[in-house]
Parts: sequence; C-alpha cells; structure tokens
Amino acid sequence: MKQKITKALKNVFINNKNIIESGIVKNIDFFQEEIIISINLSNPTMHVKKKLEKDIYQSIKDQNLHFEEKKIRLKIEKKLDTTKKINGIKNIIAVASGKGGVGKSTIATNIAVSLVNMGFQVGLLDADIYGPSIPLMFNIGEDVISSCFFIKKNGNHLINPIIRYGVKILSLGFFSKPGEAIVWRGPMATKVLRQFIHETNWDGLDFLIVDLPPGTGDIHLSLLQEIPLKGIIIVSTPQKIALSDVQRSVGMFRIQSIHVPILGIIENMSFFITEKEKYYFFGKNGAKNFSKKMNIFFLGEIPMLQDIRKSSDSGIPIVLENDQIKKIFVKITKNIMDKLS
Ligand code: ADP
Repeated sequence: MKQKITKALKNVFINNKNIIESGIVKNIDFFQEEIIISINLSNPTMHVKKKLEKDIYQSIKDQNLHFEEKKIRLKIEKKLDTTKKINGIKNIIAVASGKGGVGKSTIATNIAVSLVNMGFQVGLLDADIYGPSIPLMFNIGEDVISSCFFIKKNGNHLINPIIRYGVKILSLGFFSKPGEAIVWRGPMATKVLRQFIHETNWDGLDFLIVDLPPGTGDIHLSLLQEIPLKGIIIVSTPQKIALSDVQRSVGMFRIQSIHVPILGIIENMSFFITEKEKYYFFGKNGAKNFSKKMNIFFLGEIPMLQDIRKSSDSGIPIVLENDQIKKIFVKITKNIMDKLS
C-alpha cells in the first residue's frame, strides 16, 4: 500500500518538482484506516496547503485507491532550512520596528557599514515600501540609479546593486521618483522583493541586511515565510507607544508558521547628553526593560545626537564620521554576530 501511495505522490508537484523527489514528504503512516502524510514545507500558507491537499487526494484517487477524502490527513510542518544559501548569500538578517521614524533605516545602514569595516561582503536591501530612505542615507541620486542597472551574467539578466562605502545596495526607492508614492499592493511588492533577492548580482555576500517596512503587514508575512532569515533585529525608541507596536511585531515573529529567531533589540534615541546633564526624552531604559520582559537579548543603546540626523541627511553614515558612535555600532554588530553563532 505504501508503495502505491508513494507512486501517487510522485504525481503531485510543487515548484515543478514532484514532492517525493524533492524530499518534502517525511513520512507516510497508516493509522486506523487513515493515511497520515507528514510534509515539510518552507511556505506553508493556507492556499499552498489547500492546493496540496486537493492534488494529493486527486492523485491517490487516480491510482484507483479508494480512500475517503477525510481519511487522508496531511501533517504539515514548516521547514526553515537556515543552512541553505540563497543566491550565494550566507546570512540574511532583517531589521524591523513597530513604528516608523524610530531609526530603523539609520541603524540598518550603520550596521551594514560596520560589517564592511570588519571585512565582510555586505548587501543592504531596502524593503520599506512606505518610505524607502536608504537612497538618501547613502546619497544615491537619480543620475546614479538610472546609469547602472542591469547586467548580463551567465546568460541571465541580473539587477546590479549600487555600491556605496563598500555596501551593495538595492532599494524599492530606485523604482520611484523622489516624493512619489509607492502604490504597490502587498503581493506586488513581495514579488519584486523576491526578485531583488534571487535575481540580483549580489556576488557572494556574507550578510544581506533587509530593512523591513515598520509594523506587521503582508510583506512581512510573505517575506518571513519564504526567505530563510537567520534572524531579526528589532529597533525601538524607549517610548511606551513605540514599544506597544514592537510587542505586536514580536508576536508575529513568534507565531508558529513564521518563527524567525529574534537576535535582539536595539534601543535608539536612548538619551541625550549635554555637558551638564543626561536627558531621557523618550523615557529611561524602556526597550531594555521590555527586552527582559519578553526574553529578548538587548543588543545595545544609541544616544540621540544631532550628528546622526545630519549624517543621514547628508548621505554619509555616522560610523564613518564619529568615533564614539562607531564604537557603539561595532559593539552592537559584534553582539549580533555572537547571537548568530
Ligand atoms: P525609520 O527607518 O525607523 O523610519 P529613520 O532611520 O529613517 O527611521 O530615522 C528617522 C529620522 O531620525 C532620520 O532623520 C534619522 O536621521 C533620525 N535619527 C535616527 N536615529 C537618530 C539618533 N540616534 N539621533 C538623532 N537622530 C536620529
């Protein structure tokens, strides 16, 4: 019987491969006239599951095996193969936040440059559909964007990232004019981002940092389900209002069908120092305390500093200009690498 079922399953295909050959069928068990088929899926979304159920039932029926539909049970588990390299990329790490404006892109930028300074090959993918600010933070103007885009490599047309301060950069912002709203819906944006990851000339990266949109949306769900992320870094200010949204994001990363490791939380705009005093504009240790409560590693804190804002606006990452902030980012980046290993 098992042989016949296996034969039937060879006629069920996902991504042009039959599910037996692709190795996703882990077990076929018989239990009180039921067949239980255990399957590992990297993308167990509802529509994929439904289609699989339908195809499997049909294929078993085609083999003249008479089982009622309800007697065929699928046990689907999410498989996240973190050892698999996508397009030659060793580690994909996403930077997330609950709210916008908390410094997520600033931090993604400076972590990317810090990793380059440590000798790694680094890419930065700006997936913030609502406000792609990476082109500004690296001073990438329209002239540069339009001048170098596609290359042909081994017969394939690949997007060529733009390289600044050693970081290979690709942004949704390269596809819209400054000030123009990006009106792609979630599925369209997800499709483009998938293409950015798979069809870009990343050329052997140690790290790809993905700057996610703030909050929890379609894009997060699809990206997190399809891409083997090594982990997530969360950025927040210490403020209660920012942290309440972070809590929602943490909930999303921890749901079973996603379950991406949270490497830690970075508190941005922790304090402001003058010669006389240290001010806590957004509250003291908010993200630090939150990290304890949620059992998330605290990666470090970054002060509020006019120079950080200035450097973002002028397109020169602060770690290239300010030694004190450079040291903070080196420490945070080392913490991230410790967590990864
Ligand atoms: P997000 O990606 O979360 O929307 P950004 O990184 O775009 O946030 O930052 C929003 C603004 O705050 C930018 O102008 C940036 O320069 C500024 N900013 C970020 N972090 C700091 C900081 N620690 N001190 C001062 N300004 C900061």
